[in-house]
Amino acid sequence: MLKDVRLNPHLLTVPSYVGGKPIEQVQHEYGLSDVVKLGSNENPIGPSPLAVAAFHAALHDANRYPGIADQRLRHKLADCINARSGTTFTCDHFITANGLSDFLRMAAHAFIFDGGESIYCAPTFPLYSIFTKMFGGTPIGVPHAEYRYNLPAIAGAITERTRLIFLCNPNNPTGTIVSRDEVAAFMERVPPSVVVILDESYHDFVDDPGYSNGLDYVQAGRETVIVLRSFSKAYGMANLRIGYAIAAPPMIAYLQHAQIPFNTGDPILRAAIAALDDTAHVQRVRQLAQSEREYLYRGFTELGLGFVATQANFILLTRLPCDVKTLDRELLQRGIIVRPMGGFGMPDAVRVTIGLRAENERLLRALSEILQPL
Ligand SMILES: *Cc1c(COP(=O)(O)O)cnc(C)c1O
Repeated sequence: MLKDVRLNPHLLTVPSYVGGKPIEQVQHEYGLSDVVKLGSNENPIGPSPLAVAAFHAALHDANRYPGIADQRLRHKLADCINARSGTTFTCDHFITANGLSDFLRMAAHAFIFDGGESIYCAPTFPLYSIFTKMFGGTPIGVPHAEYRYNLPAIAGAITERTRLIFLCNPNNPTGTIVSRDEVAAFMERVPPSVVVILDESYHDFVDDPGYSNGLDYVQAGRETVIVLRSFSKAYGMANLRIGYAIAAPPMIAYLQHAQIPFNTGDPILRAAIAALDDTAHVQRVRQLAQSEREYLYRGFTELGLGFVATQANFILLTRLPCDVKTLDRELLQRGIIVRPMGGFGMPDAVRVTIGLRAENERLLRALSEILQPL
């Protein structure tokens, strides 16, 4: 019987991750056919057609274990990033994962043991604390300053037990960034024994020229900095599960010890390689998010809703004239999925992903219907 089995106490402290509601579930529960999902920061345009074709072509070899596509992708990433950023990375600077979620697990496995601590600003991406606990560590969430990552507070919380710092930039769920100068001042205060993970999942959406680029630290040879980049957001490949980290080759070689062999498959890796060639596609996704931001800001302001100005493809609504449960239910009844922020530690806030114009229009119309009688 399970009660007779010795269970891992660390796993029992870990809450299950609650993702955004899937479209099919809402269709089924509410009897709707036309459902709009603005809950999980997905790209509403879809993946590049080049990625879809590459995926299909590679399916014919589904009987084989993954081959050299992983190495190809890491070479391609080095070439693309070097061409764009003037860096001198090689494929040894890259490690791929089954989504960045898988990488975050690898990092926690690699650095959190013997009761190590991690630090981040709360609220942020829930997996930082979840994986710290999973590996028997203690997550320390210091508060934001005005919805922005408070780097001096993180620096002040560093102890001898600190192993990992998670810096989410832009931060999910607030959409705010920290600047190049702020990150530089912070890095000065991080001791050499502490690993800094710069989660730049949303970097494609940033237009603020003061934004910090984590790659500068890797290029400068700082071996304890790891930069994360995603194919799930701007590249529209969330369902394929592929992400990557960039760090100095000795760090990458160490992290490989925590990597599961064949952690993702060739169709996915080849789709990612092809997606990197379609720069026009990513550009369209970026421009849509940037222009629709302004449209939603105007709509929220007219409705008297408080929001945090964003550098990402989502907006945090902070001042709601009704409770979040009611708002969420009313929106679901109208076929609109948003993300209540209870699971992120903000029970009074809602995060909405920036969608296509028609989707954003539908959201604003539904909000005005729901909020009017109040
Ligand atoms: C979406 C997201 C990720 C990436 O998740 P995947 O597992 O790659 O889909 C990582 N970090 C943050 C902050 C995110 O919002």
